[in-house]
Amino acid sequence: MTSSPGKGYAVESPWPAYEWPQGKRSAAFLSVDVDAHSPLLWSLRDAVPERLGGMEIRRFGPRTGLYRLLDLFGHYDFKASFYVPGFVAETWPEILPAIVGAGHEIGLHGYFHEIVSDVSDREFTEALEASLDLFVRQAGVRPVGFRSPAWEMTPHMLREVKRIGLAYDSSLSGFDHPYEIDGVTEIPVQWATDDAIFFKFEGGGRDKWPLQSGHAVLEDWLSEWRTLHRFGGLFTLTVHDWISGRAQRIALLEKLLEAIAAESSAWVATADEIADHHKNSPNSGRFSVEGAVPQPIGPRRFGQADG
Ligand SMILES: [Zn+2]
Repeated sequence: MTSSPGKGYAVESPWPAYEWPQGKRSAAFLSVDVDAHSPLLWSLRDAVPERLGGMEIRRFGPRTGLYRLLDLFGHYDFKASFYVPGFVAETWPEILPAIVGAGHEIGLHGYFHEIVSDVSDREFTEALEASLDLFVRQAGVRPVGFRSPAWEMTPHMLREVKRIGLAYDSSLSGFDHPYEIDGVTEIPVQWATDDAIFFKFEGGGRDKWPLQSGHAVLEDWLSEWRTLHRFGGLFTLTVHDWISGRAQRIALLEKLLEAIAAESSAWVATADEIADHHKNSPNSGRFSVEGAVPQPIGPRRFGQADG
């Protein structure tokens, strides 16, 4: 028997249990994607209409929401990781120094929040290098992590993350604890604990579903965190300052963070701390997978390997 915290099930996983530092049972990683209006500009590109509604909703983030989140994390003395597109840092040059000054991590998140399917390999590399230069110029620190806009990655992107010497990527969901993909340390994300799918609402007819109840979402997030704690996994929370900096969401986050703070065997850490632990612990190499994209199924039919 392994020492799987999920014990009680008849079938054991072929993977070993993940080991956390200092005898902790699980980890919680708080992340903020500081997108502001960059995804909107990217989606509109050459044809930005003279309409302020959607822009102003998103500009709320760097003006107000970001500082509410910094204040909230500071209250619990939790350190978080903030992923900032180059364009956002360029537009609000005060935000990277503010985040770093409060002791948090800053990570790369594209330049214009460009979507992977829209850019070539060369453009991806240019955006990565330009963001890295800007971060060093503005904040005086070299970021060690990357999070892909919209959480999509390609084998090229993983190679580039490695080539420019970043310590980790945080865009994929292949395990619910850190692992390695194509030799890159992956700090996984999860859509079910991303505020955007519940609370992103921009008006202007662009929304695909209505706002969800904060009470229901809090219940689900608490359940996800408690169960992952039992399984010894990594709870990754992803919020956006323009979405979760609003009053009711702050109240929701307070209740979530209160529960996490009360659990002394949960390790709250930034992604760079978690990546560092992963690399320098027995976990390193135990959860290593290839990011190979399979061949198209093509003319193959059920039960026939070829033809
Ligand atoms: Zn984003």
